[in-house]
Amino acid sequence: MKNWLLLSVFLVSFVACQPGTKEKSFIAIEGLDSTIRPGDNFFNYVNLKWYDTVQIPPSQSGVGAYRFMNYQQRLKLQGILDSVSKSNNSPGSLEQKIGDFFAAGMDTNTINQRGFEPIKTGLSQINAITSVADMLTFLAEQTKLSNVSLIDFQVSPDQENSSMNMGHIYQTGIGMPDRDYYFKTDTATVAIQQAYKKYLVDIFTLTGSDSALAQKNTALVYNIQKQLATAHKTNVELRDVKGNFHKVALADLNKQQPNIGWTTFFQHLGATMDSLDVAQPGYYDKLNALLKSIPLEDWKIYLRANYTSNYADYLSQPFVKASFDYNKALTGQAVQKTRGETMSGVVDTYLGMALGQLYTKLYFPESAKARMLELVNNLQKAFSNRVDKLDWMSDSTKQKAKEKLFAITKKIGYPDKWREYNNVTVVRNKYFENVVSAAANNFQYNLAKLGKPVDKTEWFTTPATVTAYNNPYANEIVFPAGILQPPYFDNNADDALNYGGIGMVIGHEMTHTFDDQGAQFDKNGNVKSWWTAQDYEKFKAKTQQVIDLYSQFTVLDSIHIKGALTVGENTADLSGIAVAYDAFKMTKQGQDTTKIGGFTPDQRFFFSIARIWRVKMKDEYLRYWVNNDPHSPPMWRVNGPLMNIPAFYSAFNVQPGEKMYLDADKRIKIW
Ligand SMILES: [Zn+2]
Repeated sequence: MKNWLLLSVFLVSFVACQPGTKEKSFIAIEGLDSTIRPGDNFFNYVNLKWYDTVQIPPSQSGVGAYRFMNYQQRLKLQGILDSVSKSNNSPGSLEQKIGDFFAAGMDTNTINQRGFEPIKTGLSQINAITSVADMLTFLAEQTKLSNVSLIDFQVSPDQENSSMNMGHIYQTGIGMPDRDYYFKTDTATVAIQQAYKKYLVDIFTLTGSDSALAQKNTALVYNIQKQLATAHKTNVELRDVKGNFHKVALADLNKQQPNIGWTTFFQHLGATMDSLDVAQPGYYDKLNALLKSIPLEDWKIYLRANYTSNYADYLSQPFVKASFDYNKALTGQAVQKTRGETMSGVVDTYLGMALGQLYTKLYFPESAKARMLELVNNLQKAFSNRVDKLDWMSDSTKQKAKEKLFAITKKIGYPDKWREYNNVTVVRNKYFENVVSAAANNFQYNLAKLGKPVDKTEWFTTPATVTAYNNPYANEIVFPAGILQPPYFDNNADDALNYGGIGMVIGHEMTHTFDDQGAQFDKNGNVKSWWTAQDYEKFKAKTQQVIDLYSQFTVLDSIHIKGALTVGENTADLSGIAVAYDAFKMTKQGQDTTKIGGFTPDQRFFFSIARIWRVKMKDEYLRYWVNNDPHSPPMWRVNGPLMNIPAFYSAFNVQPGEKMYLDADKRIKIW
């Protein structure tokens, strides 16, 4: 594992400039594969040697930048937690909570001794159910513990009045990642179906069923899930902003789906509302029908599986292993993560804003915030200039686009005010109960927002996470401390690398404000058109070009990128790079031609683009990614956009006949 850590940084080294030049060190670009022409496969030209050398740690499904940097983040968090958990903390303090939460999770002796004792009460409650009404009461009680099964209730903004929160219910009830897993018949999917069924058999066996009964129950549960899956929307259908929002009066919903008994369900939750959004009505119509047609005893078996499965990772080792074995089939991860890494992730999930305070104090320099804000502002200017120059958009729509652009809220590093965890009880030898307490607190935290104005200062990621996001309901872009580190952001790096790094990420998030979904939200975060009809038609035709281009890319065997699933991310990549490049050209280095290590500033900008997405992953994970993730896989996040960007052609003298070459009139330009 140590070797791997070294390898991941071996292409980056600092070289001092020649004497006489300014006192700054520059990061050298090394490891280029001179046997590959940049215009044939730029991603491989920059990264192939890295791919040939780097090794995926056995406990991970991939290695490299982006989400895989969260591995190193978890190790950093583990360092904090190791130390905090050994200190003498005052009861009720943040340090006590995260320290004891971590220590309780590390105490696998106690956890293993308890076996599945922590869930026995819940399993007895399921056994005691004698009616559908009982069953709905059980589901409501579990919902209050954030333990979702059959009904997924959430509180978040009303997309037609985004300053107010409302209740939503979403499709749920299946155990595999997506509906398609139940219906596909290719070898890879069948292997996952089998692994999932084995997992169900395992959890039935581990909670006391004999082998024959476990097999029988598994078939029954799988069959119910499959019926629910038929009513699920596909992940492409879920991208339809208006098609997944249906505001309904609670009284009407109660009449439409009488078997569910919505009024009673929400009373149990303590959720008071006259109307709510039924995001995917087809699913709840199906559930309503199945509640009648499937015998109650079968539902109880289904609930038993869901309940045990939801908690498997917090029980003794045999449960954790069963869960891991299934995950292994999905992601290719060879061995379980260390307990310390797992626990760092769990603490970050349940008490992330407490842990985040300690993380940012240690790892996030305040100076990064100012530098980052400057970059975001420069990107905003560059984006605005591009809007001015668009040849396909009317002046009135341009004006509206710029109003929306300059209304974007920028969040950098960590929240201005931290979420509190006063109602979470953490006891050092009760890992399971700690998780339940934190999960229950999460539910109440969210329920308290119901019918209330939206708190626009809230963050939806923890500070240590390597990610960035665009929240269309608040017209905001968010860059947590986790992503403000190399290869994305480096205060010691030249502008070329930073603009080709975090600059591209900023441009990407900014473009989400104007992608196929974002374009439907106005500057206040409401779903409301600000386009002329003609401009919107032209915009849709352009996003269709993106869908068509990416649908041609083959990833693995015969698997193609799902163009319609990834169109928003691909649009964000394409325009994100273009905007970052324009912003870079406004800097001193961008206007200069002085080479560093033999490369022009423009070339360094594009090298950075290729490096920030380099990720090597298991085939299983790549398959999982293509099926479920709205982002294109790494190579196409780089080559896909670049083949459309004229500056890339100039920087590397890309010529007709080279594989990435597109005729000028075929190159897509949206923003
Ligand atoms: Zn994105």
